[in-house]
Amino acid sequence: MRKPFIAGNWKMHKTIEEAVELAKELVENLQGIDKKIMIAPPFTALYAVSSVVRETNILLGAQNMASVTQGAHTGEVSVLMLKDIDVSHIILGHSERRHVYGEVSEFINQKVKLSLANSVNVILCVGETEQEREKGITEQIVETQIRDGLKGVSNLDMESVTIAYEPVWAIGTGKTATPHDADMIHKYIRKLIKEIYTEQIAESLVIQYGGSVKPENIKELMAMENIDGALVGGASLVPEKFIPIVQYNKN
Ligand code: PEP
Repeated sequence: MRKPFIAGNWKMHKTIEEAVELAKELVENLQGIDKKIMIAPPFTALYAVSSVVRETNILLGAQNMASVTQGAHTGEVSVLMLKDIDVSHIILGHSERRHVYGEVSEFINQKVKLSLANSVNVILCVGETEQEREKGITEQIVETQIRDGLKGVSNLDMESVTIAYEPVWAIGTGKTATPHDADMIHKYIRKLIKEIYTEQIAESLVIQYGGSVKPENIKELMAMENIDGALVGGASLVPEKFIPIVQYNKN
């Protein structure tokens, strides 16, 4: 059985003080919940938040990392530095990295392999733009992003990979894919993983949905067979929204 995995991507929000306050509130309210829960604060707040979540059921994620471990790379953050402060997961290939900062699949793939080589889990984000969706090439886009993003990733390393399907047109826009439409793409991703790897790897792969997830739609999304979790942006910044999202199946 795939354990539900709810992750919050705080993007470029929160000072250290605000981040610590939010993390403390989440720790208090989410203790004892039997789901995988992760928060990804901005780099500046990671160290402070790492001591708040240490030895709790909340995992620490980073929003990006460098494609090499060290050297003359002004402005970059190494996987070794992230590991040093107990980061267990790294979000890679987020649509903002792809579309705003021009990260291409080969570059994302380098990061994926580097993260896994350093025993840090990866959340690999994939998803089509509105234009691609209108052209009817969603599956093709997602397939290329997955094949390229996972090139050279071994069967064993797939245990440390989560895929987040995030249609770009649904991120931060208030628009959500219908649960049925999202589930069809998740099903397609699982089929593709079976083709590339094995049935067992495909069946155990956790596939998150991302794109305007909120307390009002999480339950119906999570009810779908192939949706195993959520990558939450905006709503993860607000405890009154993120807590009920994590507790979606508690009445
Ligand atoms: C995201 O940034 O990964 C995301 C899904 O954002 P939002 O929930 O705000 O749409």
